Amino acid sequence: MAPFTPNDTQVQWELGPVGVSVRNFKPRWGSCDKKGQVAFNWNIIKAPHAVIDYVVIHELCHLIHPNHSQDFWKLVSGNDSLYAERKKWLKEKGFELFQ
Ligand SMILES: [Zn+2]
Repeated sequence: MAPFTPNDTQVQWELGPVGVSVRNFKPRWGSCDKKGQVAFNWNIIKAPHAVIDYVVIHELCHLIHPNHSQDFWKLVSGNDSLYAERKKWLKEKGFELFQ
């Protein structure tokens, strides 16, 4: 899947999702189900690269923690120390990607 070029963080390939798909769904940027199937909203392609990385990291971390617990955010921050900025970006500008 060429559109997602991961950076050097370990989590992205080591976790090994069973499948990845790109779909057109709202309002979420990505999802991860119990079987390890990860999906991304294609609109995220329009976001800055760092934000795309964050969304990928976020969903892959759900393969370990299927929730938004403290442990989940610890894992996210271990792979993207600036994740809070990306989150903020999505909250403030994310809707523009749908236009
Ligand atoms: Zn989440």
